[in-house]
Amino acid sequence: MLEKKHIKFFERILPKDFVFSEPGDCWAYGYDNSKMHVMPECVLFAKDSLQVQDVVKYCYNNNLPITTRGRGTGNTGGSVPIDNSIVLSLEKMNKIVEIDVKNRLAIVQPGVINKVLQDELKKLNFFWGPDPSSQDYSTIGGNIANNSAGPRAIKYGTPRDNILGIEFISGTGQIFKTGVKTSKGVVGLDLTRIFPGSEGILGILTKATLKILPLNNSVRTIEITFNNFDEASQTIISLMTQPLTPYKLEFIDEESIKLINTIKKNHYDESARSAVLLEIDGENEYIDLMLDKILKIIKKNKYNKLTVANEKIEVERLWEARKSLSPALREIGGYKINEDIAVPISNLTKLLSSLDKISKKYNIKIVNFGHAGNGNIHVNLLFKTEEEKKSNNSKNCLDEIFNLVIGLDGTLSGEHGIGIIKKQYLEKEINKETLKLMKNIKKQFDPKNILNTNKSI
Ligand SMILES: Cc1cc2nc3c(=O)[nH]c(=O)nc-3n(C[C@H](O)[C@H](O)[C@H](O)COP(=O)(O)OP(=O)(O)OC[C@H]3O[C@@H](n4cnc5c(N)ncnc54)[C@H](O)[C@@H]3O)c2cc1C
Repeated sequence: MLEKKHIKFFERILPKDFVFSEPGDCWAYGYDNSKMHVMPECVLFAKDSLQVQDVVKYCYNNNLPITTRGRGTGNTGGSVPIDNSIVLSLEKMNKIVEIDVKNRLAIVQPGVINKVLQDELKKLNFFWGPDPSSQDYSTIGGNIANNSAGPRAIKYGTPRDNILGIEFISGTGQIFKTGVKTSKGVVGLDLTRIFPGSEGILGILTKATLKILPLNNSVRTIEITFNNFDEASQTIISLMTQPLTPYKLEFIDEESIKLINTIKKNHYDESARSAVLLEIDGENEYIDLMLDKILKIIKKNKYNKLTVANEKIEVERLWEARKSLSPALREIGGYKINEDIAVPISNLTKLLSSLDKISKKYNIKIVNFGHAGNGNIHVNLLFKTEEEKKSNNSKNCLDEIFNLVIGLDGTLSGEHGIGIIKKQYLEKEINKETLKLMKNIKKQFDPKNILNTNKSI
């Protein structure tokens, strides 16, 4: 139980309405998209780095754990206060400090919503690469902490590829600045890029200098269906082994096709067993030349049906089908485990055929789709009841899937991170010595282990 004196201290140093301790006010800050919920003892807000620093210094001196929170859209319990800790929400630190197109950079506070930044950049014909589907709600701080990205990561990368520098508060309450404002820089160790994917365990990000890029003014969208997933994999590989990298390259398996067809009546032909949705981007004058080139590459492979969307309405129809998958999964009800593993794309066929066998072996329906160009597949295990989801059968199935992924040189998480939900599987991918090294690094940043304690590593 958090002593009253601590809450009184926070009320003294923070503005009015920046400290919540009533359960009714705190409740909504106790969960994320993992559906875990732990009631915080108190919720704090900050509007600048100095306020964050004051809070962390006090927590350091009093051994109080802190859970950092963006908007709580994470999938793995990262912003859930599992130790009933103080939640520090950065949603009020939402200023875009500077957009500097000449130097291709933007400086933002961590609570800026991804979409808000993209909208401001779009006015200047620029964009920031990372585009998670949650971009209307999730924050840049959360995006960086989880290294979150979406379909265009294949061409424009994740936060790790699109960050130049950061300001952060360490677990002792010290303020640090890392990185550069240039596209090159080799002075000292790269402490900037250790942050993307570190899930808030090293420090609290209070400012980020992001690399931004000019927007291409044209896009072409293509949907291809296949007679089996091997044909789809071969096309994905041939698209990735030529110089015209797609802007987006999404894969949809047979079960996903069936699901989409229940919502978007007969979007796909009955014969379609898997599908790829891809886009290329470029300048107006070149885009149709690029399209011809991409179509030639696709046509060298086996496929079932090829659709090129020429009108905006047709583009929207193709994307709506892809986007209807998550709601469709929700609609069939039941209970789901959503994994986001990634494998080298040359192993996609092996992955998909083995997942098919695992699905039959455990009698669990598995629906696969995702960012094919990154080999990042959302593997959804569907159950009819909560008991089935929590059963040993389900645990063994998941265990076999993770072993398969590691055996295929893949990774347990392409974009959602480890948080608390996946911690039990960490040692499948990271050996004990490496994990020890990581924990020692955490100790340097957070010697009393008060930041997102017991998460990620
Ligand atoms: C509908 C939906 C769609 C999604 N689609 C995608 C997708 O396409 N791709 C994808 O990668 N993810 C996706 N996600 C997951 C989620 O949106 C991302 O992980 C997102 O980046 C989390 O941002 P957030 O602001 O909600 O952070 P939170 O969930 O609040 O926090 C996430 C982690 O970051 C830490 N953190 C937050 N802010 C800071 C900070 N300033 N300093 C240090 N640590 C911090 C937290 O402690 C926590 O560990 C989706 C989620 C939903 C609900």
